[in-house]
Amino acid sequence: MNTMKQFPETVLVLGLARSGTAAARVLLDGGKDVTVNDQAASYDDDSVQELQRKGAHLVLGSHPLSVLGGIEVVVKNPGIRYDHPIIAEAIRRNIPVVTEVELVSYLTQQPVIGITGSNGKTTTTTLITEMLKYSDCNVKLAGNIGIAATEVAQTMQVDEKMVIELSSFQLQGISEFRPTTAVLLNIFEAHLDYHGDLESYVNAKCNIFKNQQADDYLVYNADDSTLKERVTHTNAKKIPFSVTKNLQQEGAWTNETHVCFFDEAIIALEDIVLVGKHNLENILAAVAAAKLNGATNEGIQHVLRTFSGVKHRLEFVGMIQDRYVYNDSKATNILATQKALDSFKKGIVLLAGGLDRGNEFDELIPHLKNVKAMVVFGETASKLERIGREAGVQVIKHAEGVDDAAKIGFALTDAGDILLLSPACASWDQYKTFEERGDIFVQAVHTIN
Ligand code: ADP
Repeated sequence: MNTMKQFPETVLVLGLARSGTAAARVLLDGGKDVTVNDQAASYDDDSVQELQRKGAHLVLGSHPLSVLGGIEVVVKNPGIRYDHPIIAEAIRRNIPVVTEVELVSYLTQQPVIGITGSNGKTTTTTLITEMLKYSDCNVKLAGNIGIAATEVAQTMQVDEKMVIELSSFQLQGISEFRPTTAVLLNIFEAHLDYHGDLESYVNAKCNIFKNQQADDYLVYNADDSTLKERVTHTNAKKIPFSVTKNLQQEGAWTNETHVCFFDEAIIALEDIVLVGKHNLENILAAVAAAKLNGATNEGIQHVLRTFSGVKHRLEFVGMIQDRYVYNDSKATNILATQKALDSFKKGIVLLAGGLDRGNEFDELIPHLKNVKAMVVFGETASKLERIGREAGVQVIKHAEGVDDAAKIGFALTDAGDILLLSPACASWDQYKTFEERGDIFVQAVHTIN
């Protein structure tokens, strides 16, 4: 059992941002000798001044190698790459380099449910948190979608559980961190610019279970061949989930009609609001993790009957004049839009377009068979029109932006159809963020009457 006493005494926090600031604060509260180094932060920032008052040594504006003098461990911001001069030098000097989540295992002994994967982390993390909450379990959400992990870990009470979304960047920098339940959703090629190659990316993800012990649980996707092979090397109890296999002896699965956990039917598929096979995977993972941590069937059912998706991620906006409206503004690449299109059986009016990154979008063509009309906008409008024509989409219109696309698209729907914003492109040619784009779309559909 680790406590802050076991954590090294002299620490360099590299990169402030949210998690770095939180880590520095927690370390200073724990009586550590903390140096903070950040390129962009200013001595005038309130949070920087607070750290200074707590006794941090501040080195701002540049990254001199001298900051490593006397340092026993570096806590780096997850976004900082391993070829950063300070990190490279730390590694050369054999100074351990960790990320902020490493501190969690020194700050709390309460159960920690950690979720990782290339896709679906936020959705699954949200589902698990809600399922536990509606089962009257005390949970705190942390990490990528919540408050910094260290801040939450510091305030954990007996009887509370922590649910934490973990990126591969965070997981690459752990040494002792040990979730009592680890959830591994899937592994696709991603972030290879950061990790260098697929092997190191997979290794980083699999770090989630490297410290687990015999009484811990590892929930994993048994349909993912990479994961299936990797999890043979775990000490934890393995709980697979699968959308293709019967796992009544082992974990979470679906038969024709229900989501099941071992041999128990938990909820009818027709009662679930979330759409898409990918979301069914997230649901199975969430059901397994939630059940293992005390969720009730009623709690799980309530969430799955009402949860319409994380905002902007194939989020069900509502029924407008008998049309189903979905906001998938987070679909900033082709893969995400493929998933969205595959989630519906018929009558889709697709709104797509945005920043041109040089893609030709041909991979979308096989997924357009249920699309009856498209409204294209942004830099990629003409490219998307071309693939729409090639796929045989009957009606293709151009719009200025997502707001008139919403109106033009709605006019092309009939009752029972699906109006889907799933742009397949980043938003930055016209909007600050995908959130802004999604919000404008939702506002526009609500003004239709
Ligand atoms: P993350 O937090 O990992 O980015 P999200 O839950 O925010 O994941 O979902 C982002 C997008 O990833 C979704 O819009 C969807 O296109 C895709 N996605 C979600 N879950 C899965 C899954 N289990 N498998 C494949 N793709 C998925």
